[in-house]
Amino acid sequence: MIQLPPSPLQQINDPILKDFPVKLYIKRDDLIHPEITGNKWRKLKYNLIEAREKGYSRLMTFGGAFSNHIYATSAAGKEFGFETTGLIRGEELAPWSNEILMFSKINGMDLIFMPRLNYGFKDKISREYRDDFYVIPEGGSNEFCIKGVVEMMDEIYDEIIPDYVCVAAGTGGTLAGIAEGLRGETEALGFAVLKDKGLLYPAVARLTEKEFDVTTEYIFNNYGKTTPELMEFIIEFEKRNPDIKLEQVYTGKMMYGVYDMIQRGKFKENSTICVIHTGGLRGRAKELGEIW
Ligand SMILES: *Cc1c(COP(=O)(O)O)cnc(C)c1O
Repeated sequence: MIQLPPSPLQQINDPILKDFPVKLYIKRDDLIHPEITGNKWRKLKYNLIEAREKGYSRLMTFGGAFSNHIYATSAAGKEFGFETTGLIRGEELAPWSNEILMFSKINGMDLIFMPRLNYGFKDKISREYRDDFYVIPEGGSNEFCIKGVVEMMDEIYDEIIPDYVCVAAGTGGTLAGIAEGLRGETEALGFAVLKDKGLLYPAVARLTEKEFDVTTEYIFNNYGKTTPELMEFIIEFEKRNPDIKLEQVYTGKMMYGVYDMIQRGKFKENSTICVIHTGGLRGRAKELGEIW
């Protein structure tokens, strides 16, 4: 069966927030599985179930050379008995060029590199795998991805009724799932982590008709970029909350933004805020200490 246990929800009792009239919770999707982490599991789950029901033995998906999604898909293949192929954007790299590629390879994934101009590529893939593979979209842009995230929202509502659900937004697939799973007065707020060229909002709106908000205040220059201030925030956060680790690409930026908004009184008074820990801890910068 394709299933992992639900993730815990816990309250953050941070001394530096004690004078602010909010309650802060964190949905610990980072604890779901050591390798299939966070929102990547949520987005994969119903795709895996669909692939199994349709009788596919191979999963194929796409991503950059540092993609958490590639890594999670390789791990899900290993865990649930699918073969996996990762189509990696860019020139060919050795699998040991970085941990994401290396561990994806160790999980048994075929890595195929896609330089920008590679005509005839589709035919080659089709021939090689005799068209027997299930394609998982990269960013979460299908109904099955949304369904998995809605399930996470149901887990949250089993325990609390938040006023806000906050999440880091890359492609926005997770934010769309959150919006789709909203009940009552809860608001969905996405924290953009890459330079917004005006694409995020419409990308989410394509996937859901529900309302959601996006803030672009906490991008810290661009995707994967950091500042000393962000790194300092993460280090200090982890000292005060030793059982929670963040990373600098997604969850660190979102948490920085949530703290900043709390301290500036941007959330309604006495509100309950739930942040989603979307995992990704394998991407921690060296200065934060790697977790492999
Ligand atoms: C992929 C990822 C995200 C972004 O998810 P989208 O659905 O693409 O917006 C957020 N956090 C972490 C840790 C991720 O790996």
